[in-house]
Amino acid sequence: MTRPAQAILDLSALAHNLERVRALAPGRRLMAVIKANAYGHGLIRVAGALRASEAYALACLDEALVLHEAGISHPMVLLEGFFSSREFPILSKYDVAAVIHHDEQLRMLEADRPTGTLAVWLKIDSGMHRLGLAPERVAAAYQRLKAIPGVKLQGFMTHLASADERDNPVTMQQVECFGRATAAYLEPRSIANSAAILAWPQSHADWVRPGLMLYGVSPFADQTGTAHGLRPAMSLQSRLMAVNRFTQGERVGYGGEWRCPEDMTVGVVAIGYGDGYPRHARTGTPVLVNGRRVPLIGRVSMDMICVDLRSQPQAQIGDPALLWGGELPVEEVAQYAGTIPYELLCRVTSRVQVLSSP
Ligand SMILES: *Cc1c(COP(=O)(O)O)cnc(C)c1O
Repeated sequence: MTRPAQAILDLSALAHNLERVRALAPGRRLMAVIKANAYGHGLIRVAGALRASEAYALACLDEALVLHEAGISHPMVLLEGFFSSREFPILSKYDVAAVIHHDEQLRMLEADRPTGTLAVWLKIDSGMHRLGLAPERVAAAYQRLKAIPGVKLQGFMTHLASADERDNPVTMQQVECFGRATAAYLEPRSIANSAAILAWPQSHADWVRPGLMLYGVSPFADQTGTAHGLRPAMSLQSRLMAVNRFTQGERVGYGGEWRCPEDMTVGVVAIGYGDGYPRHARTGTPVLVNGRRVPLIGRVSMDMICVDLRSQPQAQIGDPALLWGGELPVEEVAQYAGTIPYELLCRVTSRVQVLSSP
């Protein structure tokens, strides 16, 4: 690689964050959520670092197959389940569990009965109204699943809509709704994502499903992962590729939106939206050049951003620039870009070289 844009992964941070989840939810089983290329961190690498989990949670079979092709066999759960009965033989062969969230999937199981054993979770809609069966339909679905030979029900699952809002009464209503819908059964239960693990101990149940916090990032808008004892796993970094002097009034970048308020030094960092740096990061978004904060200026380009180097006129081509990670929380950059840290992490593109530090 010739271009200096790199994502450095701290694999020991992943293991540390998993231990933080264990401390917060003692005695619960842990499904490490590594969907979407492990939130942009690299599926295979992250799976290796999170082997101490009891299972991996993925979105779909394609993601599970990437792991199997890499020789990784570990219990796996597909949060979106299957999309067609053609997946049944592969699910059985690799013993991958599918979440059943819709009547249509029940019908597929009844029509094209799996030939081997097929593990499933039943997802209940306790109020988010995205995926899941309505609570009053759980008893019938349970009977239907039990009647299909080869189908093994591993547990019940639900998902919380507002667990990141500590004062929102909706979360406890969802927990109670799910409790009532599953009270008659002995199978394990799972409710909690990262925000619920951190803020709603009443939701921990038998299995917790942390995603974002495993990567060291906070799901709450007003806090960073460090405040929860987490360590960020990804640092996105690059280098200054140009340092220029401009005079007062000169314009910088596409559209010439930003004008130099005085004679000054402007740096160009080799990172842009083609790497996954958010195009909507606004003027003032912090970047660490040589470990010190400088503000982004003007529009983000595909391959570059410009930074105000008035505080570091001595900076030189090749000096390091940190876009997030370490001392610069991705949570903060997300706020400047009008988005959430989940999106920034997932969006890092394949052009960025990923390196791991053990
Ligand atoms: C993505 C996902 C999670 C993990 O959520 P985080 O907020 O990243 O912890 C848990 N459960 C389900 C069903 C999910 O889709």
